[in-house]
Amino acid sequence: MNPQLERLEGHLERLRLFHSKERLSGILEEAAKKDLAYTDFLEELLSQEVAAKTDKNIQMRTTMARLPYVKTLETFDFGFQPSLDARQIRELAGGRYIDAVENIILVGPPGVGKTHLAVALGMKAIQQGHRVLFLSATGLIGTLAKAHAENRLEEKLKLYCQPRLLIVDELGYIPVDRHGANLFFQLVCRRYEKGSLILTSNQRFGDWGEIFGDAIIATALLDRLLHHSLTINIKGESYRLKEKKRAGLLAKVTAQETDEKALKA
Ligand code: ADP
Ligand code: MG
Repeated sequence: MNPQLERLEGHLERLRLFHSKERLSGILEEAAKKDLAYTDFLEELLSQEVAAKTDKNIQMRTTMARLPYVKTLETFDFGFQPSLDARQIRELAGGRYIDAVENIILVGPPGVGKTHLAVALGMKAIQQGHRVLFLSATGLIGTLAKAHAENRLEEKLKLYCQPRLLIVDELGYIPVDRHGANLFFQLVCRRYEKGSLILTSNQRFGDWGEIFGDAIIATALLDRLLHHSLTINIKGESYRLKEKKRAGLLAKVTAQETDEKALKA
């Protein structure tokens, strides 16, 4: 190999410009062929390195976010959920709520797309360069309780304060005992005015006393959560049911055909 090329590759490796290192000989050849100006050559090389690094970062943050699945706003059918303001959700996707440290609370019955929207907003936040973490409410409270029992609560609370956006999914499906409520309250207080939360729940705020088995702690929680926040109520049909109904309809038709066949036989 040309010793100069070898040295250049060594420099790029040392600078951790791995993409440029991989492509150096090819891009040099191309530049010579196209007779590129120095500035154009440098721009080409650096812009590709930046794109590769950005991509890698997004991939890494996506893995760290532990999203349950990959869903985007682009695949969300707003036509099916007319109670939602598509423009409002798209504006949220711009991420200003994260800079303003506001919370988003998605409330609605099962299957209306709360988790889908929370994941989609999480993915946008990742693309905007933020650290995101997705947890189920039950998982989160269980982990905090375990950490508390092992004298590691402080460590866990700190860990859950690191992501700029914390998504807590499905609050309300399973009741939380007083100790769990207290631990969750501590986390919400820690993140208060420091980092955004997206919370999804099938229960209206009025029923939160029942989730936590304690109206006082529920009120204190809501006080912190709602202070800088936006609540989105989704009133509509379950998307899961819609799909099931369609399947059910098909099943009925098949049953009818079978009956007809049986009659003829
Ligand atoms: P929830 O969290 O409100 O119970 P999910 O977000 O889990 O509901 O939605 C259930 C399923 O239906 C998911 O697979 C989700 O992607 C899909 N879904 C829900 N609403 C829509 C929608 N309006 N457009 C496209 N897919 C949807
Ligand atoms: Mg859900």
